[in-house]
Amino acid sequence: MALQNRDGTDRGNIEVTEQSKLTKYNGLTALVTGASSGIGRQLALRLAKEGARVALVARRESELEAVAAEIRAGSGEAIALPCDVADASQVEATARLALEKFGSIDMLVNNAGYGGQRKFLDWDVKDMEAIMQVNYFGTVYFTKALLPQMVERNRGWLVFISSVSGRIASPEKTAYAASKFAMTGFAEALSLEMENTGVNLLTVYPGVIDTPFHTAHMLENMPKKTQGSMVSPDGVVDAVFEALAKGKREVTHPSGIAAGYVVRALAPEFLRNQVLKATKKD
Ligand code: NAD
Repeated sequence: MALQNRDGTDRGNIEVTEQSKLTKYNGLTALVTGASSGIGRQLALRLAKEGARVALVARRESELEAVAAEIRAGSGEAIALPCDVADASQVEATARLALEKFGSIDMLVNNAGYGGQRKFLDWDVKDMEAIMQVNYFGTVYFTKALLPQMVERNRGWLVFISSVSGRIASPEKTAYAASKFAMTGFAEALSLEMENTGVNLLTVYPGVIDTPFHTAHMLENMPKKTQGSMVSPDGVVDAVFEALAKGKREVTHPSGIAAGYVVRALAPEFLRNQVLKATKKD
């Protein structure tokens, strides 16, 4: 299939049928949202270590500058771009700044997000809107801002940090699971649209990861067994790099959890009971 530029002119007979396998990061430019802490911070550090130039996005400038300093201390290149991903105009301005600084952005990591645990009847609807605004619309805004130049250049990687809660919901996570299911649906549809464009989309489904994501309230209410299953963000980062190297479209970490998706499809009632059992408070 001959691709066309956005103005309708022919782009030649470039055909990209396979998800590109990414193994070399030298010269690559990346923007990571939620880069001040947890998974995003670790991903940004690893990207820089592999040779990518990284734009770091989160709200707190001082935290971002600390990550940028760490990257520069290792001879890497990083810029700190404070931005609230829930604010469409801030996202547009930040994406523009990143493009000005780096010329183009090859990889967008939509990672910024937060959780929250309480029964639906106790959720304030305004707080439910806020979580959707950050976890889902933040992803939409940044993708809208940076995807055109990827499609234009037939080159790009979108990495969506969703959650196992974006595939299997659990009690007291109505707001969070809805935001992550939204992300999953958006990613699946967009990935199909990106067929033959040279833009690759990887959706990441982390399990329970040891980061500041878990507030004291969430930890107090977490069953001991779940606390015991918590793994470090380094494992997620390794899983992301491995998945990108293999050209995968999705990855779950720890990988064993993915069996639950099959069980859900084949025996939903069984999975439901398992989830109820696993989330029962001690
Ligand atoms: P974290 O709290 O350590 O990091 C979240 C990052 O997002 C921080 O940098 C924070 O500043 C940023 N952020 C939050 N709201 C923002 C906003 N409005 N604008 C800009 N930045 C904002 O938590 P984490 O565990 O590293 O979470 C990263 C992603 O991984 C989230 O999307 C989260 O939903 C997802 N995730 C986490 C877990 C887990 O168990 N920790 C499990 C599955 C998925």
